[in-house]
Amino acid sequence: MSKQILKAHKIRLYPTEDQQIFFAKSFGCTRFIWNKMLSDKIEHYKESKTELKNTPAQYKTEFEWLKEIDSLALANVQQNLRSAYNKFFKQGSGFPKFKKKGIKDSYTTNNQKGTVAVTQSSVKLPKIGHIKAKVHRSINGLIKSATISKSPSGNYHVSLLVETVVDDLPKTQSNTGIDLGLIDFIVLSDGSKVANPKFLSKLQNKLAREQKILAKRRLVAKTQQRKLSESSNYQKQKTKVAKVYEKITNARKDFLHKLSFNLIKNHDVIAIEDLNVKGMVKNHKLAKAILDSSWSTFTTMLAYKADWYGKELVKIDRWYPSSKTCSGCGHLLTKAELPLSVRSWDCPSCLQKNNRDINASLNILNEGLRLVTLKTVGVTGLA
Ligand SMILES: [Zn+2]
Repeated sequence: MSKQILKAHKIRLYPTEDQQIFFAKSFGCTRFIWNKMLSDKIEHYKESKTELKNTPAQYKTEFEWLKEIDSLALANVQQNLRSAYNKFFKQGSGFPKFKKKGIKDSYTTNNQKGTVAVTQSSVKLPKIGHIKAKVHRSINGLIKSATISKSPSGNYHVSLLVETVVDDLPKTQSNTGIDLGLIDFIVLSDGSKVANPKFLSKLQNKLAREQKILAKRRLVAKTQQRKLSESSNYQKQKTKVAKVYEKITNARKDFLHKLSFNLIKNHDVIAIEDLNVKGMVKNHKLAKAILDSSWSTFTTMLAYKADWYGKELVKIDRWYPSSKTCSGCGHLLTKAELPLSVRSWDCPSCLQKNNRDINASLNILNEGLRLVTLKTVGVTGLA
């Protein structure tokens, strides 16, 4: 089966000085209109208890410089603000926040009959034209939108959303259960393990060192009573920290993309635990391990890739006792019988030797297959 999906392509941009000025203006104007529309909405609500229906166009007479940037960028702000409000009212997310300068500087525009295009060495954008770019592969499919961003280390990127047709991957007749390892990144039900990549921990050590230097420079500036914005040593080090941080984020994402794709390619049903990462982070012992291993990013990737390629991802209830159940006979240990420090145990009932992580992933697989069967039976029952 083929289906049409929206795939993101991130491309590094190398804008000229003039183009950088245009981007800075665009970031500034979109941030301004977001904050302005939001504060007007808040004020209006305080006075009338009704929602103000404002649009960016209404502000263009008073703030004429808004006309200098791509009007679609402003239209997207309105849409994003709308969806932030909807999320607040319907999904209980937090109230929309004001945007600060230099944090997530970006704007989004749309492709209208070729106003956004990619060549071998450039990306064309509305109102500004061609920007020099590092294009690794050609883009096939209709470009829907482009989000231009500047990272804290000063690099520019464009993320293009492209309509892409994907085909189901061939079925493999193999299924797997995945347990989130504490030592390894994941443990599979066939007993194989995927370690956390070494380069990540090396980069993390480097990050810690650079952050220490940054803290020292902050202290120096403070004792000399200089503003941080005027201390060039501090600013230089801040960029350095941002660069290492971005490197870690990119390397981790890359690792998770490859791993999730391989699992989807090699298996038909993939069962995982639906862990509440937010809840788990409160446990300080586990916090670093869990955050580092980016479990939630990983499960998100598995979910949409399973959907793209015609495979099945089953999430197991997080209260399911995958660690404490013997995968051989179903015997259930009590919490006291299996503290976190115990890595393997002998089942008191069937005497099977259970490796903690592999046993858990086997249980996850079995529970996943049970749920899939239930679902299939349910569907045929209806037909
Ligand atoms: Zn047993």
